[in-house]
Amino acid sequence: MLLSHHRTVYFSILVRHMEHSQSIVFVQFFSLIAVSCAVAWTLLATLLRIAPKASWCFATANTFTFIGILLYTQRTEAISYLYWFVADMTILSGFALVRWGCQHLFKQPLSYRFDLILLAATALLMLLVPASVTYAVYLVIIMSITAAIFITLSGIDNFLAVKKHLPIYYAALLNVPFFTIGLLFIIRAVILLFSPDQLDHISAGDKLNSLLVLWSYIILLLFTNLVLFGNALTRLVYKAARLANKDQLTGLWNRHALLNKLEEVDALWLRNGLAYSLMVLDLDHFKRINDSYGHLAGDMVLKNTADILQLSLRKIDFICRYGGEEFLIILPLTDKNEAQIVAEKVQQRINDNTILWQKKSINTTLSIGYATCKSHLSIEQLLQLADDAMYLAKSKGRNTICSMDSMEDSTDTSEKSQQ
Ligand code: GH3
Ligand code: MG
Ligand code: MG
Repeated sequence: MLLSHHRTVYFSILVRHMEHSQSIVFVQFFSLIAVSCAVAWTLLATLLRIAPKASWCFATANTFTFIGILLYTQRTEAISYLYWFVADMTILSGFALVRWGCQHLFKQPLSYRFDLILLAATALLMLLVPASVTYAVYLVIIMSITAAIFITLSGIDNFLAVKKHLPIYYAALLNVPFFTIGLLFIIRAVILLFSPDQLDHISAGDKLNSLLVLWSYIILLLFTNLVLFGNALTRLVYKAARLANKDQLTGLWNRHALLNKLEEVDALWLRNGLAYSLMVLDLDHFKRINDSYGHLAGDMVLKNTADILQLSLRKIDFICRYGGEEFLIILPLTDKNEAQIVAEKVQQRINDNTILWQKKSINTTLSIGYATCKSHLSIEQLLQLADDAMYLAKSKGRNTICSMDSMEDSTDTSEKSQQ
């Protein structure tokens, strides 16, 4: 059915006058957008070093699209593998690059194998016929199907990645353009399959005469780049938020994240009476470790201590690197007695642990202070109490657990030593 129509298409192209000015404006406009986007992505990749691998993929994708469209404009009635086959494959490679860039951006597994097989299969199918306007319908259908597959798969990849960090509606909304573009390509393929003489209206397979196609190419290019910028921004914001709240060395929460969490737990206590405790832990004589084994060994001890804390505590506990070698833990749903049990467990695990550094073993201990919420105490006062309790543990000889109950009477303490 396809090939029976090729004569009609061929003649319609021969007799039609090409609207030169319109095509020229289109190509100029399209090139301007594609080149600007390519430059913008290159700047992101090089100067700003924002998601460099992904940005390089997007820069190259824009360049490929630009080259592909330029090649389209050179098409004549003569057979040309450069203006048909190479042009289509260049643009499709651009789509594949968009997908790979998104995968780099969200640290997803790369789908090179599947995508290269798809490109190779497309190339083979295209090479079954001469690269000419005579077979335009066939070529445009194949191109559209492959493009639809690439853009839809990119949309699915993105949706799944963004959904992990952000609300599902945002993930869906962000990828609406991708799914729409995928759908448009499929619709075009289906229309051409059943009604090949529609080619003039819905394809740039010949000489870019259709206004609809010209503008949809521009919108497609713009929207794709917008989605990609949206993706990069999402990733950046997520990363920045993570960096702002997490300690680089240990991966624990940092002081910045602490206050929000404290207010949340305190509000739960005030509203529902769910008691919580705060625990301050400080490594004993840590300076000696740095002095004896070096700063890197010290870093490793900090990391190791953080790991032990994470393994010893519940998921709902909030572990924060409070200062250099000082940690603060929020223990929700934990009263005074339970806090003492937690402190003993942590103390035991740290005492039992030996760190190997360049064939030397390093042992550490902690001074632990804790305080449990009370109705007349503010968050700041509770923090102060836990900190005072830790200093008390230091003064009692280190590797010790102390608690403090009230601001007025700092001698009102309980103490348990395991030296
Ligand atoms: P104390 O038992 O009284 O707590 O003695 P200390 O030596 O642990 O305490 P001090 O406050 O005298 O020293 C803490 C040291 O921790 C000094 C600082 O150089 C070191 N430190 C702070 N942050 C880091 C870090 O990120 N890495 C390393 N390796 N050392 C750090
Ligand atoms: Mg210390
Ligand atoms: Mg300290």
